Amino acid sequence: MKKTGMIITLLCALLLTACGEKKADVTATPTVANVTPAPVSDTPTPTPQAETPTETPTPTESQKEEEGMAATLLYQGHGSLRITTGDGKVIYVDPYAGTGYDKPADLILMTHGHGDHTKDELIATKNADCRKITWVEALAGGTHQTFELGYVKVEAVEAGYNKNHNAAQCVGFILTFANGVQVYISGDTSTTPQMDSFAARGLDYAFLCCDGIYNMGIKEASDCAKKINAKHSIPYHMAPGKPYDESIASQFEGPGRILLPAGEELVLE
Ligand SMILES: [Zn+2]
Repeated sequence: MKKTGMIITLLCALLLTACGEKKADVTATPTVANVTPAPVSDTPTPTPQAETPTETPTPTESQKEEEGMAATLLYQGHGSLRITTGDGKVIYVDPYAGTGYDKPADLILMTHGHGDHTKDELIATKNADCRKITWVEALAGGTHQTFELGYVKVEAVEAGYNKNHNAAQCVGFILTFANGVQVYISGDTSTTPQMDSFAARGLDYAFLCCDGIYNMGIKEASDCAKKINAKHSIPYHMAPGKPYDESIASQFEGPGRILLPAGEELVLE
């Protein structure tokens, strides 16, 4: 009987130590559990990948493609514009300001001979059949000429009518693209008699100079915009020596006004 009593006490002692060890193990495990949460908190980092749908540029670009033959205009600043037609023809108007002269030219237009309209050496390359139409060709024979080039119709219109710009040596242009969109580019001018006939044509865009020093000021340009009544009126050539001046541009008024800072693009639709 004494032996069995001893065995029982021994067994109990063994059990107790085993339980004690187990308890120690349990307290140890939380530390392991504390380590594991850390990688869990790392898992949110991959979630920013779920933000990929915010890459909206892709839809916008494809939208442009869907719009088919719409030309895209880059306002380079001052009086300089670059237009890429829906079928990829590149037109430069009055090259001088800004950047974006890297696309090979198919057509170069110049409204008059002043230095801030004639820097075609900026255009890096010209396609073999590149055409250049300046105020000289545009006023051949003393009349305003029209050029049918297939991808665009170029119509010279009146410009000048101020002390710095002789109407016999200056033109504006109305460009008509394959999709029928018509864009008036004033060149350097004050109000011209021909502007009275423009409203009847239902122009889509009218770019109007407005520096008030070498050509008409913002008030006169706004009056012209109302008279011309294009779907969209856009001030440009607004401050000598500056590609764009927001404080001047914001004073411009006209139907469907668009303020287009230098370096920005506009889809002509
Ligand atoms: Zn000018």
